[in-house]
Amino acid sequence: MVYDLVVVGAGPGGSAVSKIAAEEGLKVIMIERGRYPGEKNTSGSTIWGNVAREIVPDFPADAPIERVVDGSRMYWVPEPGPNWAENSSASDDRSKVDPLNVYRNEFDKWWSEQAVKAGAELKTKTKAVNVIRDGTVIKGVITETGEKIEGKITIAADGVNSHIGRMAGLRSKWPAQEVALCVKYDWYFGDENIVTERWGSGIEDGVLIEIYWGATVAGEAGYFWIFPNRDSVSLGLGSLMSDYVIHKYNAHWYMWNAIEHPLVAPKLKGGKIREIHAHAIPLTDPNPNTGQINSSYGDGIMIVGDAAGMVCAIDGAGWYGAVKAGKIAAKVALKAIEEDDCSAKMLSKYEKKWSKGDVGKTLSIGKELETWLVRDMTINGLAKLMASSQGVNSMYHPMEIPISGQFENLEKLMAGVRPIRFAIRPFVELISQMIK
Ligand SMILES: Cc1cc2nc3c(=O)[nH]c(=O)nc-3n(C[C@H](O)[C@H](O)[C@H](O)COP(=O)(O)OP(=O)(O)OC[C@H]3O[C@@H](n4cnc5c(N)ncnc54)[C@H](O)[C@@H]3O)c2cc1C
Repeated sequence: MVYDLVVVGAGPGGSAVSKIAAEEGLKVIMIERGRYPGEKNTSGSTIWGNVAREIVPDFPADAPIERVVDGSRMYWVPEPGPNWAENSSASDDRSKVDPLNVYRNEFDKWWSEQAVKAGAELKTKTKAVNVIRDGTVIKGVITETGEKIEGKITIAADGVNSHIGRMAGLRSKWPAQEVALCVKYDWYFGDENIVTERWGSGIEDGVLIEIYWGATVAGEAGYFWIFPNRDSVSLGLGSLMSDYVIHKYNAHWYMWNAIEHPLVAPKLKGGKIREIHAHAIPLTDPNPNTGQINSSYGDGIMIVGDAAGMVCAIDGAGWYGAVKAGKIAAKVALKAIEEDDCSAKMLSKYEKKWSKGDVGKTLSIGKELETWLVRDMTINGLAKLMASSQGVNSMYHPMEIPISGQFENLEKLMAGVRPIRFAIRPFVELISQMIK
């Protein structure tokens, strides 16, 4: 049997492609190495309802949602010095910014079921190890048992390491300075009231996610976060892989440093670790001309989500990139099958659409902000500035960028900052000294 679409990976991206394509009548198979979708997932928890509704119009329907997120609370905790500052922002229009916390292990299962309900076949416990190649054309995949699964179009939605994307020649391994390694602890209270008392904001009964910036808590290169779930919180921390080597970081050491920090410890009292995960996140330049990826399409193949580096580098959020690009890939696949033309030329429409739309804009700005913040200014430098200045009480969190239409403002800001980017660090040091 030859499928229209062979989708490798039933994560957010793979299931989004499959749902839309199956709904349009294509014969779709999803191949997932886990016993069920989500089993292998180590992600944090924030997803966006308004993006989910692009795939499942009546979302959240019966989806397993842990908490509604009302906004974020930022802590600026630089090193050295006792100063720290806090500022919170809550969204006032949930039609634009609709963040929700989920437990991905359960949520991914539900998300893939929507594709199955739409008619896609799901084959679990099956690992794709190679592509079926006919000259330059990819015609499906070969599993680890040697089974050949043929398709007119193959979608590599197999996550950050994307073996299938690499076997198809679309990308190579990301270099260590383009990938973050994140650790996540699920900190379990077993009591919903504790989470509500400590993180609830009182608006719409939702919670505030917390982000701690600055070397005192999270080391020079990263940040520490607390994402509230129903009766547990996700604690996370990440740094560029290359920084672990250069600075001899140990992520677990920093995690405990954060857990025991006086700003954090009281909130975690009474909880304990239920799960520990570690996983890589691509923080690469998404642009195929200048970045690490050769192309996001080829003859008979497209690459989606983390596999293609579609993660906002400034905050490591990749759920919406994978889902939105997945929807675009499904529409392009539909047209290609209808016109019986699955050539690279036809599938190049996928790259044009994602790179010129929300996904591409968010990724480019995210990468630019990350380069500016992490490499030029340093997170600790920004934390120092924020901690020493009074009255700084609003800052858009990048997760709001793709949905709240802040592109124009951010693009203007970045256009102003670009020429002086490299001079900004001493300038920040000077201002923070003056404010003290
Ligand atoms: C600690 C951490 C916290 C994060 N927090 C957030 C957050 O709060 N919000 C956010 O937006 N993003 C977050 N991210 C990023 C987010 O998890 C990813 O961007 C998102 O999951 C990408 O979806 P995807 O479908 O591209 O890939 P994945 O979610 O990685 O899914 C890939 C799927 O493919 C399967 N697979 C892989 N290889 C094969 C193979 N060879 N054969 C068959 N199946 C295969 C895997 O088992 C998996 O199910 C976080 C990441 C980490 C590591």
